[in-house]
Amino acid sequence: MKTLSRKVQDLEESQTLTLTEAANRLKASGVDIVSLTAGEPDFPTPAHVKIAAIQAIEENFTHYTPLRGIPPLLKAIVAKFERDNNLHFEPSQILVSVGAKHSIFNALQAVCNKGDEVVIPAPFWVSYPEMVKLVDARPVIVQTLSASNFKITARQLKKAVNEKTKALLLNTPSNPTGAVYSQGELEELADVVHDTGIFVIADEIYEKVVYSPARHFSIGSIRQIKDQVITVNGVSKAYAMTGWRIGYLGASNAVVEAAAKVQSQTTSNATSISQRAAVAALSGHANDVEGMVREFERRRDFLVAEFSKIPGIDVVNPQGSFHLFPSIKPLLGKKVKGMPIRNDADFCHYLIEQEHLALVPGSAFGIPDHVRLSYATSMSELEKGVERFRSGCRKLNESY
Ligand code: PLP
Repeated sequence: MKTLSRKVQDLEESQTLTLTEAANRLKASGVDIVSLTAGEPDFPTPAHVKIAAIQAIEENFTHYTPLRGIPPLLKAIVAKFERDNNLHFEPSQILVSVGAKHSIFNALQAVCNKGDEVVIPAPFWVSYPEMVKLVDARPVIVQTLSASNFKITARQLKKAVNEKTKALLLNTPSNPTGAVYSQGELEELADVVHDTGIFVIADEIYEKVVYSPARHFSIGSIRQIKDQVITVNGVSKAYAMTGWRIGYLGASNAVVEAAAKVQSQTTSNATSISQRAAVAALSGHANDVEGMVREFERRRDFLVAEFSKIPGIDVVNPQGSFHLFPSIKPLLGKKVKGMPIRNDADFCHYLIEQEHLALVPGSAFGIPDHVRLSYATSMSELEKGVERFRSGCRKLNESY
């Protein structure tokens, strides 16, 4: 029998999904696991969105749609970009896809040739490097520092760019760190982008989950580089619609033409019913989103306060998304119950085994010695999670 694709065998499996699955398996076997690995809001999809989808089904809106998205959705996205992001697109400059993940993949397909380089600041969302590899390009990882709140600086970007560099993959607000780039920081990056002519794929999926005084700013609104920026967003995180699979990008006509060509030969249009639901989400009032963000902020404040009290833990206050990314460095190199805790993966393994708490190791996001936890779960689960984390750290601190 012939062998399978080498390219696919060389890919990493998504560690967030693997850990969520491991936690679910233990849960199913009756263990009381607290899982802080999930990447989705724990709120229901708003009622008016569900009604729009039911109506679409009842009206038999269940067939193929135009490849790039139905006209009312393209219109709603153009209006959203205008209203929230100061981005000015024609409907022909929008492509609706099967989630923001799909939009990023289409964007990479549209711009990359074999051997091109794509700059990815670490910590990064787990899928970025693997997607870059899938389009035969090379991920160039730039390590950011907690001192700069895990944000790439213009200086670092300039140093990483060479004649092979095709794009920068930028995520603000960030998963896993919660970092939010300010307008000033983005303007400095934009100068490098302008001088070097590279593309920016701006993943703004957590745009709505930002805590005051931080504010989201879209790098694509900087006039001098607007044609170089591919802005990606979607309805998953803002409207608790992860399962509906609607993402979109806005870009220059040439990029959208190319990305649409890829989509025409792979998935065709995104689901017709979900598109109608997305129109309702993007056109509805902001109350549901605001309520959800207030609740996330309350949880963030609780976690930052609790984690700051734990000896050996260093935590940067996240400005957005629903993740905390503490450093556990002083706890490494110890041994507990015969288990050596050499690195963040050992630490997560130890926590799941001994404390029944599931987290994701920082190395999955390109920065070791950290863990990521998601606070997209109820306050009572978070309280239990903090207790288990504290207990695990105490035992480590008492060991040698
Ligand atoms: N970008 C980031 C940074 C994410 O964390 C996620 C989902 O976890 C996505 C993109 C994908 O979102 P979607 O559900 O729209 O595909």
